Amino acid sequence: MARYTGAVCKLCRREGKKLFLKGERCYSDKCSIGRRAYAPGQHGQSRKKASGYGLQLRAKQTVRRFYGVQEKQFHHYFEMAERKTGITGENLLRILESRLDNIAYRLGWASSRAESRQLVLHGHVTVNGKRVNIPSYLVKAGDVIAICEKSRGLESIKAKVEMNSGRPVPAWLDLNRDVCEGKVINLPNREDIDVPVEEHLIVELYSK
Ligand code: SF4
Repeated sequence: MARYTGAVCKLCRREGKKLFLKGERCYSDKCSIGRRAYAPGQHGQSRKKASGYGLQLRAKQTVRRFYGVQEKQFHHYFEMAERKTGITGENLLRILESRLDNIAYRLGWASSRAESRQLVLHGHVTVNGKRVNIPSYLVKAGDVIAICEKSRGLESIKAKVEMNSGRPVPAWLDLNRDVCEGKVINLPNREDIDVPVEEHLIVELYSK
């Protein structure tokens, strides 16, 4: 399935939640959710109450869109989550949080996950000193993620880092702003993850 290239604010409006897909605009009063809080399309304002299946589907789509993951890969993450011990829904969110593009976003090096995906793809990010250009790379506790030394001097990257410096960094990551280096102290627990979803609905959906 091809990557979605349409208007991303429509995705938030479809889910009825802010998914923070557009960088700075998401934190301003220009956010479409505040201005048009109904689903897009001709029947957006007259949609009826969702069924049980509808709620499960929306939960899955919310998480998939929040992290910018394709359907096939999302299902692959679900299977990984099922194989791990513990609660499947929480395992799934933990796996998604440990993607390298998400970590770069959480560390404040990009305004959105799409932008941080580009940062990784273009080879600006290292893991434990080695360049990694795979956005879906899964980090582990103890890994050190950094913007490589050469890229740190680039004006475009310096501007992004500066622009996002006010965004709080989660407690499970330790950021050294001076050298653009972050350490994964531990992988997050559910309460550390701010995804607005009831993840058990996704488990129910895939268990049908
Ligand atoms: Fe979603 Fe951001 Fe657009 Fe608001 S501005 S609707 S949070 S993508």
